[in-house]
Amino acid sequence: MGTLFIVPTPIGNLEDITLRALRVLREAALIAAEDTRVSRGLARHFDINTPMTSYHEHNKLTKLDAIFAALETGDVALISDAGTPGISDPGFELIAAALDRGVDVVPLPGACAVTTALVGSGLASDSFRYVGFLPRKASALRERLEALKNSPETIVAYESPYRLADTLALIAEVIGGERRVCVARELSKKFEQFYRGSAAELRAHFAAENPRGEVTLVIAGADPAAAKWTEAQVLAALCERLANREPLSRAARAIAKAAGWTKNEVYRLGIKDG
Ligand code: SAM
Repeated sequence: MGTLFIVPTPIGNLEDITLRALRVLREAALIAAEDTRVSRGLARHFDINTPMTSYHEHNKLTKLDAIFAALETGDVALISDAGTPGISDPGFELIAAALDRGVDVVPLPGACAVTTALVGSGLASDSFRYVGFLPRKASALRERLEALKNSPETIVAYESPYRLADTLALIAEVIGGERRVCVARELSKKFEQFYRGSAAELRAHFAAENPRGEVTLVIAGADPAAAKWTEAQVLAALCERLANREPLSRAARAIAKAAGWTKNEVYRLGIKDG
């Protein structure tokens, strides 16, 4: 039984492929690529002649059998169009299925827009939350931002350049204009740019200039002290809801979400103060 190698490929700059990735791609019996037209260009550039098959969002389930058949006799290298397979790219199902069947899975370290944008942003990187692509619809995006608003971790998200200005406007509105944000554009490419500033500043900047190319968004985490309500604030909110005959449990749940408290903490405060 062969090994399934997960192989990151460059997110722009072709020098960002590792020596190990090149060797694994050359030695594999088969390369499973997200889009063979894209990856053939890469293979040609690096003189890789390994047979290639497509493994993408729309055929991934039907392709599993063929990939496991290849794994019977040799190694398979999984690649996406750019960056690390499985990170907002096809890969997860294949990796999980391989592990289920007892196939060795070996991930290679390498290019990924998430970590490159995060460390270049200058925002706290000790703890971060990757949320994939942000929702396209404004209502769903607002809901997601509300849910992330009090997250103490730095947030990393992928976003389309066409929606960036609207997204920054909503971040300023929902999360706050003063929150630090970084837009990492065209990472590792000739016109790489980092825009660092408050949500309000970046919103103003991108309202005037529509960016081109690929972007990754990094949003600072909430200051836990600022996000958490005081006991007096929680009590005042509780009194108001209970006076309106809302059950304690429901009021506690709603307040906890806004206050940065747990539901139990609010509930216990409600019982203590009658
Ligand atoms: N698996 C890839 C990775 O490891 O980075 C991500 C694939 S996802 C389909 C593509 C998104 O990643 C783009 O829409 C963009 O948000 C982000 N991205 C990819 N390359 C980038 C680059 N060079 N600069 C900034 N963001 C990039």
